[in-house]
Amino acid sequence: MSLRRIARNFGFALAAVCGFVTVSVTAASAKPIDVVATTSMIADAARQVAGDRAKVTALMGPGVDPHSYRQTRSDIAAMARADLVLWHGLYLEAQLEEFFLDLEKRRNVIAVGEAIETSKLLSHAQYKGRYDPHVWMDPQLWETVVLAVRDALIKTDPKGEATYRANADKHIADIEKLITYMQSVTKTVPEKSRVLLTAHDAFSYFGRGYDFEVLGIQGISTESEAGLRRVEELVDTIVDRKIAAVFVESSVPERNVRALIEGAAARGQKVEIGGTLFSDAMGEPGTYEGTYIGMIDHNATLITRALGGDAPATGMQGKLAAGS
Ligand code: ZN
Repeated sequence: MSLRRIARNFGFALAAVCGFVTVSVTAASAKPIDVVATTSMIADAARQVAGDRAKVTALMGPGVDPHSYRQTRSDIAAMARADLVLWHGLYLEAQLEEFFLDLEKRRNVIAVGEAIETSKLLSHAQYKGRYDPHVWMDPQLWETVVLAVRDALIKTDPKGEATYRANADKHIADIEKLITYMQSVTKTVPEKSRVLLTAHDAFSYFGRGYDFEVLGIQGISTESEAGLRRVEELVDTIVDRKIAAVFVESSVPERNVRALIEGAAARGQKVEIGGTLFSDAMGEPGTYEGTYIGMIDHNATLITRALGGDAPATGMQGKLAAGS
């Protein structure tokens, strides 16, 4: 066998081996990365951006209150296995704060809510030295969080960069459609009715973005108890301003809202429950309200209709279907 022939055979064999290696590397990188998120909203952002490249688990399901949530044993096990852990920060997960501050010294942990410039955040009288964490209520701010989720995914799995960028662009385009819809329906609510009264102070960013005065019975965290005096103050407001509807929230018990309705009734002002808003958790998985866009659409549509504005009962989907 000539040297050239040997070299050629060796080259062929090498190419075959390399080919095999390449195939197995591709197969290995196709295994989804393991992402754990605290809230369902963050998990949705991760799913939208990662597509098939990640298996995303949310620690907090529908109806779960992040202000009081404490990690379980299985949460700790899931986070120990994860390639990437996403939490909100801004003191939303108040009971997990120390846990995450410690975990981020050792693991790939990102507080995605903290990507937003502080100049765009709202402060709160009862929350000294901290910001209002409910930034998902303003989809414009949420876009920054989606980009933070994208960047965290790229850092964790650089091979997926093109996919993550394309998916994030698509999701942000969908959020822009949501913003256009929200602007068009919320502006139909009459000036005098633009008061949003809810169980806790979760809607200030919505109020700022879409021009509603927002009043919560409880403060910014559900951990603080609503005082009798606060309920009386709000009953005064309902009576003075003839507010027609107040709202309950999926992740907060509705007893305080009931106290308000009874208080107003005793003063001769009939006020109704405008419906259940998704404040700090999305709806059931597999439903439209179980997505970020569906959750915010649901809230904007419900608020608009209950306060005398004009929005299709089926929300943005109905509006898109009607071609308007
Ligand atoms: Zn909250």
